[in-house]
Amino acid sequence: MSVAQHFSQTYAEARDKFFAATRVRGLGVETHVHPLTGRDGEMLAMDVARDGPRNARSLLVISSACHGVEGFCGSGVQIALLEDAAWHQAVHDAGVAVLYVHGLNPYGFSWWRRTTHENVDLNRNFRDFSAEPPRNTAYDQLAELIVPETWPPDPATVEATSRFVAEQGEKAWQQAISGGQYHHPQGLFFGGDAPSWSQATIRHVLRDHGARCARLAWIDLHTGLGPSGHGERIFACRDDADAYARARAWWGEVTSIYDGSSTSALLTGMMWLAAYEECPQAEYTGIALEYGTLPSMQVMTHCAPTSGWKTIPRPTTRRDAASSSRTATPSTPTPTRGRNRSSRRPSTRRTARCGG
Ligand SMILES: [Zn+2]
Repeated sequence: MSVAQHFSQTYAEARDKFFAATRVRGLGVETHVHPLTGRDGEMLAMDVARDGPRNARSLLVISSACHGVEGFCGSGVQIALLEDAAWHQAVHDAGVAVLYVHGLNPYGFSWWRRTTHENVDLNRNFRDFSAEPPRNTAYDQLAELIVPETWPPDPATVEATSRFVAEQGEKAWQQAISGGQYHHPQGLFFGGDAPSWSQATIRHVLRDHGARCARLAWIDLHTGLGPSGHGERIFACRDDADAYARARAWWGEVTSIYDGSSTSALLTGMMWLAAYEECPQAEYTGIALEYGTLPSMQVMTHCAPTSGWKTIPRPTTRRDAASSSRTATPSTPTPTRGRNRSSRRPSTRRTARCGG
């Protein structure tokens, strides 16, 4: 299989390929069904395949689509690994079990959105909602520029944005937007006001699979920031020197949001915090692997019409969300229900590769 063949043009195609790759590997798939259907009427789900024994001391989680549309890259990486015999031999020889989590945010994956169906940035959603949310005052001041009344933005908005960037710098613009905010539900990088479906589901998966391991590693696949095609390994742990040293020993050059070496802003409510909470017995080490796409200002600009803004089509079909987990055998056909896969595609694919 060529490299390109691991990648897909739709969520349903990616899901089909993931199931096919797990069948080749002889793995079962746990399917956690999302309450809504996808852009083409297909089933949405967080699908989980485990390669390795339940009692493995070392568990490596490899996940895709935290930011929905970024799953096109992450899914391709997961499928390529599933089909890589040398990789399987290496992890088996090392005594490492691998957990492939396909479609953390399947709604955003299918609809080419960065956010979940709640317009939540999943990587800002992991905070204590009983506490007062942190205030992003920089976002407050820029909210009307970030998500203007009209799109594309009118000349006055463009001018005001350019003035801010000229005076404060791109980094300040990026930090204000992508750091996360909890007071503009229609805005960008909104962390939500409650745990999202994806948060509850990945917590369940971590508890189920990670409660017995002594060492837990997590590589969460993203796209957006950094030089085009370059995979930046961004430290995804608490600000802990031992964990940082371990990550660098394992993965080589690793950047950090804590010391400013990463292209990512300092974030709030990050997903991997759940690893500490759901698997407290494990020594946790993680990175986000962020593949660069467009220059950061373009990435930020493109996020507006692909996030929770007024142009988002409203979901029309609701599934029963209760007890929506089941196990599929490798021979189970992928339960997609595409009826016209080309009818509602966004007009351009370049608009939706927003990272962070
Ligand atoms: Zn991302």
